[in-house]
Amino acid sequence: MTEPGETMGLFWNTGTPDPVIIREAAQMKRYIDLMTCDSAFQEKAAADPERAAREAGLRISGEDARYYARYPLPEARGLQAAFLEEKKEYRRRIRERAGELRHERFAAWHRRQVGRCDLELGRGTNLELMHLPFALELSSGCSVGCPFCGLGAGRLNRVSRADPETMELFAGLVSGALELLGPGVREAILYSATEPMDTPEYPAFVEKFRELCGKTPVMTTAVPMRNPEKTRQVLAMDPGGEKTIHRFSLLSEEVFRRCTEAFSPEETLYVDFLPRYKESRIGLVRAGRSPDAEGWEDLLTDQGTIACVSGFIVNLADRTVCLTTPCRADSQRPNGETVLGPEPFGNAGEALGIIERICGGMRTVPEDGVPLALQPFLHAGDGESFTLENPGVVRISPEEKGTEVCRILAKGPADQAEICGRLSGPAWGTQLTVFSLFRRGIITHTDGFER
Ligand code: SF4
Repeated sequence: MTEPGETMGLFWNTGTPDPVIIREAAQMKRYIDLMTCDSAFQEKAAADPERAAREAGLRISGEDARYYARYPLPEARGLQAAFLEEKKEYRRRIRERAGELRHERFAAWHRRQVGRCDLELGRGTNLELMHLPFALELSSGCSVGCPFCGLGAGRLNRVSRADPETMELFAGLVSGALELLGPGVREAILYSATEPMDTPEYPAFVEKFRELCGKTPVMTTAVPMRNPEKTRQVLAMDPGGEKTIHRFSLLSEEVFRRCTEAFSPEETLYVDFLPRYKESRIGLVRAGRSPDAEGWEDLLTDQGTIACVSGFIVNLADRTVCLTTPCRADSQRPNGETVLGPEPFGNAGEALGIIERICGGMRTVPEDGVPLALQPFLHAGDGESFTLENPGVVRISPEEKGTEVCRILAKGPADQAEICGRLSGPAWGTQLTVFSLFRRGIITHTDGFER
């Protein structure tokens, strides 16, 4: 679907993509996926790129085969560069649409979390996080048990079945959240610390979601080969709006090879293959179980989190709802998320009531009488001019009045009236500055769930 002001692309925002372009791009992507995920293929391609491509059944030019037969991979060019550029734009649109929220208090809270993550995790890392306002987990725990699970998922306890009662609950939750929170809910996913393929009738939930929200939710699975037909069914689903990128977390080279045998290059053009095995030498985020995973020590990165929801996660199997937002994993929040809840519910009305109550407690402006503080990861720098620093991530120099407010808060929490009383000039001017710092996620209330 093309939004006003957007241009048509070759891969997205296009009615029916040109099959010749799709085939060509898919063959090229498969070659690059082989170079990224398959060490034996890398060796073959290093020795004879054209032959390696031919033996993999790929029809790409000898020039392209030679160009991409290097590891690490060179910068993308031609059709591949166009595909990646459009994919980047597609992700940017998801992030933007996820922030389209109708509920004023929730929208203000959501904006603050996005701003805070810029400062806590760094802008580059934060741009990778979608800050989805809503997610549904269809099972309780996960059967896969990856030793490096960044969300620390527990063992599989229970799964949701697509019986009439559960489907009604599911529909009530999705349409109720859409109504209450706003259009950003359309970007929801049907998993978090769960595995979609654990849900026997996962495609039925996807269909229902598409019927209600007009789009197929993104799927990330670590077991794409557990039931290839079911995986294929999801990949083939009408995306609703624009094409959806699904993701396969690959737990071994063997799984990757089986995927390439089972799925054609065209079937996986819109699938990200994410190697999660040591041979790939691709880093793992230090969060959840990964710091304790044996043999991964030198591959851990400091991105801080893989959590991507700033909003509500409803677990359909446990019948619980929680509010969550990404943060840098530490001993207190090992899974890289700050969580309020979970709270149990019995039916959709109760779940939506909990969501409404939590949203009602969110603030659009700083509240009088409640202490404010600098975010705990921000500290006054020791240079001559005043700065706030999160070492290795960000250094901010607030404007003049902002500096004065932050100097006060660097010494300890204070409420708005106290801050106004300690600064010269009209109180409304100070209040505006406090509001601006609050809105950007630089300062926060010290009570409740304001991070
Ligand atoms: S990484 Fe995904 S598949 Fe693996 S244990 Fe965690 S939730 Fe399950």
